[in-house]
Amino acid sequence: MIYEDMQFEIVTIFPGFFAGIFDNGILRRALAEELVSIGVHDLRAFTHDRHRTVDDRPFGGGEGMVLKPEPLAEALASLGIGPKVERLAPQQVEGDMKVAISQDLRKETDCGNDRYVPDLGCKSYQGTTSVVPQSDQSESGALAPAEEFDAEGDGGFNPRTEHADSMRALAPEGNPSGESKSRVILLSAQGRPFNQAMARELATLDRIVLICGRYEGVDERINQLYCDMELSIGDYVISGGELAAAVVVDATMRLIPGVLGNEASGEFESFGVADAEITTAEDGVPRSQHGAGGLLDYPHYTRPAEFGGLRAPEVLMNGDHAGIRCWRREQQLRKTLTNRPDLLQGATLSKEDRKLLEAIRDEAV
Ligand code: SAM
Repeated sequence: MIYEDMQFEIVTIFPGFFAGIFDNGILRRALAEELVSIGVHDLRAFTHDRHRTVDDRPFGGGEGMVLKPEPLAEALASLGIGPKVERLAPQQVEGDMKVAISQDLRKETDCGNDRYVPDLGCKSYQGTTSVVPQSDQSESGALAPAEEFDAEGDGGFNPRTEHADSMRALAPEGNPSGESKSRVILLSAQGRPFNQAMARELATLDRIVLICGRYEGVDERINQLYCDMELSIGDYVISGGELAAAVVVDATMRLIPGVLGNEASGEFESFGVADAEITTAEDGVPRSQHGAGGLLDYPHYTRPAEFGGLRAPEVLMNGDHAGIRCWRREQQLRKTLTNRPDLLQGATLSKEDRKLLEAIRDEAV
């Protein structure tokens, strides 16, 4: 079977972060088999000053620095991505933004019709994992001082746009003129929570562009003008979007058909969708092997049978498949009840599951 390869594009000020991160296990194989390609793009390649400045002080004062919009807009243009108004159907662009964009930002730029690919710091991980990004690997994170802040005289925000054909190629699903399924995503602690359901959705796309923030974050106009969604990997703040991007790539990539050995195996894991038809076998035994139904996974054991004074559950070693399925389903319910009771509400539970759950709850009383 031939699978279409899926493209991830990561825009970052630390391309070196990704050296080696995709070089192991399932991800490495998916890259080698060209089921997936990953481009890592150095934001500094899109600056034009001596210091390769990507940040500036926040309007309104306060701590930290903010990633400037212009290099990000240029980086996106180099990937064929213009403002949303170029990619989305008019009704998908919010009112105010539409006016602002159409008056000010729909200018052709010197990018021309050719896709601009910087040779510095731009790495494609297509089918190989051996090349190391060429940007300064020893970068400490300390930036050259931002140029003197000048709110009045900064020349205004003028994102570059690419050729209209490229825009159409990146139109999200639902756009009548769009041939391709792509999303531009800003990694942000303020984003919608990234979860397995979201990963499943993303895995159906052709191209995902991930913008990694740093410092206090990214100038909000990049979000407003270019991003289809903001994603958060959890309710905590990390130092940069790179780790978050890697999480999104990993979780999404493994759900692309052909990446995992068994095509359905994503369903067997924690948060896997239920296959309602086979959640319960003909003999009435809950079948945990067929769809986690939104529950957590069951515990796993391997040889030796005894370790650290603990014996692996007998039921797993006696070849009674119905018994094993039953035990595993019960364990899924137990784990979920203990660690993530919130998941039970959205889980697909059979009559037998509910009975088991009741029995488990009764034990605790
Ligand atoms: N000032 C921001 C806030 O309070 O929400 C935090 C900025 S954080 C230090 C720098 C960058 O790390 C963010 O722009 C974002 O790209 C990334 N980041 C931090 N936490 C994240 C999370 N939970 N999920 C995704 N990205 C995150």
